Amino acid sequence: MPSTPCETHTAPAFPYKRILLKMSGEALKNPETGTLIDTATLDRLVEDLHGLRALGIQIALVVGGGNIFRGLAGMKNNGTDRTTGDNMGMLATVINGLALMDYLEKHDIPVRVQTAIPMSKIAEPFIQRRAIRHLEKGRTVIFVAGTGNPYCTTDYAAALRANEIHADIIFKATKVDAIYSKDPLIYPDATRYDTISYDEALQKRLGIMDTEAFALCQTNQIPILVFSMSQPGNIRRAALGERVGTLVS
Ligand code: UDP
Repeated sequence: MPSTPCETHTAPAFPYKRILLKMSGEALKNPETGTLIDTATLDRLVEDLHGLRALGIQIALVVGGGNIFRGLAGMKNNGTDRTTGDNMGMLATVINGLALMDYLEKHDIPVRVQTAIPMSKIAEPFIQRRAIRHLEKGRTVIFVAGTGNPYCTTDYAAALRANEIHADIIFKATKVDAIYSKDPLIYPDATRYDTISYDEALQKRLGIMDTEAFALCQTNQIPILVFSMSQPGNIRRAALGERVGTLVS
């Protein structure tokens, strides 16, 4: 029906316009079969991303590499030099990022991969303004290779990129459904938090992210939503502001 001059069109108010989703490597893994990149997880992601795109919500991803390699573990297990091991870990995030790119594009989601370690045959270099432009054009941007520096984590990369692209929030997709006072699998009396302040999370040493990443979010007041990706539709629900996981702000 054509609109009349009196009709007002108010844009739907979603709490977040631009989201940075941090997916750990572990979140990609199938714990039962041991498959490094689980198709069911990818399918859930595709469905959620389609939902967000339909609402005009912009999404960037930082993907971890822990399902493949971690520098610290390499050092502990094989005596691998820490810098070499961390470089291997960052390359693992590139593998995951390319797998995500391939899968998302096959499901009609336009993607650009930007890497912190130059590899021009594989991905664009990370360029802040270009990343923002991609998001504005409706592309999903996947940031890989962490920060490009050893002795860092992909959580730190997520905090950094979230600041750089002016994201409204970090969605930290993990294996657990929320933040608890202690491990709920071991302690049935563990308290589940719906919301928690940065200070309280620090005080209680809840280990939501590594200290540096957490501090970067706190200093710049970027909220962090911690939730599980194993439930279908969780990302979409969280983006719509429904109660999912724990909000740190
Ligand atoms: N890494 C690094 N610098 C970064 C990001 C990651 O050296 O900026 C390395 C580090 O060895 C890390 C590995 O890459 O263990 C994989 O990243 P992470 O452990 O953060 O992945 P996740 O736990 O999210 O799967």
